[in-house]
Amino acid sequence: MKVCKFGGSSLANAAQLNKVMDIVLADPARRIVVVSAPGKRNGADTKVTDLLIELANTALKGENTDRQFGAVVERYAEIAGELKLGDEIVREIEQDIIDRLAQVATLSKEEFLDLMKASGEDNNAKLVAIAFCARGKHARYASPRDTGMVLKGEFGDAQLDSSSYATLSRAFSNFQGIVIYPGFFGYTKEGKVATFPRGGSDITGSILAAAVCADVYENFTDVDSVYPVDPRIVPDVKEGISTMTYREMRELAYAGFGVFNDDAVIPAVRARIPINIRNTNHPGEPGTMIVQSRRVVPGTVVGIASADGFCNVVVDKYLMNREIGFGRRLLQILEDEGIAYEHMPSGVDSQCVIVKGQFLPKEKEHRVIQHIKRELNPDNVFVERDLSILMVVGEGMCYTAGMFAKACLALASAGVNISMVNQGSSEVSFMIAIRSQDRDVAVRSLYRTFFGS
Ligand code: ASP
Repeated sequence: MKVCKFGGSSLANAAQLNKVMDIVLADPARRIVVVSAPGKRNGADTKVTDLLIELANTALKGENTDRQFGAVVERYAEIAGELKLGDEIVREIEQDIIDRLAQVATLSKEEFLDLMKASGEDNNAKLVAIAFCARGKHARYASPRDTGMVLKGEFGDAQLDSSSYATLSRAFSNFQGIVIYPGFFGYTKEGKVATFPRGGSDITGSILAAAVCADVYENFTDVDSVYPVDPRIVPDVKEGISTMTYREMRELAYAGFGVFNDDAVIPAVRARIPINIRNTNHPGEPGTMIVQSRRVVPGTVVGIASADGFCNVVVDKYLMNREIGFGRRLLQILEDEGIAYEHMPSGVDSQCVIVKGQFLPKEKEHRVIQHIKRELNPDNVFVERDLSILMVVGEGMCYTAGMFAKACLALASAGVNISMVNQGSSEVSFMIAIRSQDRDVAVRSLYRTFFGS
C-alpha cells in the first residue's frame, strides 16, 4: 500500500485536482491520500491557509469578516464549479466555516487560530472525496478525530502523541477503497483542534505511512526530483538524484535543500518507510527515492548544499588545550545566552563555534563577548559574520581517499578561500565554511568537479 500526500500547489484548482485523481487512480496501491488546503494558483495568489489566518485575525479583532470569508469560500466554489460537483458541498463548507467562526469568543486566540487553519485541509479533503465519487470511484473522507490523530504540545506547533500510532493503525486495518485524509491537524486529548507547524501536511503523510507500514510514502510536489545542487545557483543542472539515503537527505536538508522538510519525514524515517518525492505535473518521472541504504559507487557525491547566514565566535587563548573544561564553559555561556551551536572546529589555541546569525544579532554580540571575556579570560575573542557553509554529501565518500582534496582544489582554482572545515567520522559529508560573497562561485566549482559538468 502507498500513502500519497499532495501539497497545496497540486490542489490549487480543478485542473490540478484532475491530475491528482489521475495519479491516484493509475495505481491501485495508492489507497491513502493526504491533502493540503488549496495553494497558490499563480505567483500573485494567496494560499487558502493564509486566507484563513487573515479571516481568523479579523474575527479576533471583532471586525467584519465578510470579505475574508467570501475569499475562502470562493476558492472551494471555483473548484467545485469547474468539476461540476454541485452546490451542496460548497454550502457545507460555508456552514462549517460559520460554525468555526462562532467559537471565537469561547476559545483562546491560539486555539481559535488552529481551528480556523485546520478547516483549509479538512474541507478540502471532503471536497476531494466528492470529486473522486463524481468520477464513479469509491473514495471517502476520513477524519483525524475518528481515526485517532492525537496531538500534544503547543497550538500551532503541535506534535503527535506517540500512542496514536496504534490507534491509527487499527483505524486503517481492513479499510476498503481510497481514503482522503486531511493533513496538517489533529486533536488534543481534550478534543480541541491543534495544527502542526506550517507545511504540516507532510508530517501527517509521514505519520500515516508509518502507522500503516506503507510500502512507500509518495510526496507529490511541483519538482521532478531533488536536484544535486540548487538550480538557482547552477541553472543548467539536468539530472536529479534518483536515490539517496535518509542520512544523505538529512545532511542536504540541513544546509538548505528546501524540497523536503527533514523534520516532517521523521516518522517515516524511523519506521524505515521509503520516501518518494514526485511531481504532480510530470507523473511519468520517477522522482527521488529516499531509503535506509543504497548501493553506492565509491568516490561519488550525491549533492552539494549551501546555506548562508552563519557567524563564527572565535576564542583564542594560549595553552587553551591544557585548561580542563574550557570547551564546556564556552558552550555553557552560549547555552545561558540561548544560542544553539552548529559546528565547533578548533585549532591548538583557538576554538571556533559556528552559530546561526539569527541567534546572535548585533545587539547581543557585545554582551556575549563580555560574558566570554569575564568567564574564560581569553587572549582574543571576536565574531566573524557573513559566512556560508557548503556541505558536500555522499555515502560514496566513505573510505575513499582524495574527496576532500578534490574539493579543495576546486575551490582553490576558483579563488575561494576556505575559512574552516569540519568532517564527522561517519564520512557521509564534509562541511566547508567560506565568506558568503564567494558562495555561488564555490558551489559551481564543486558541482563541476563532482558532477563533471
Ligand atoms: N496548508 C498548510 C500550510 O500552508 C499545511 C500544508 O500545506 O502542509 O502551511
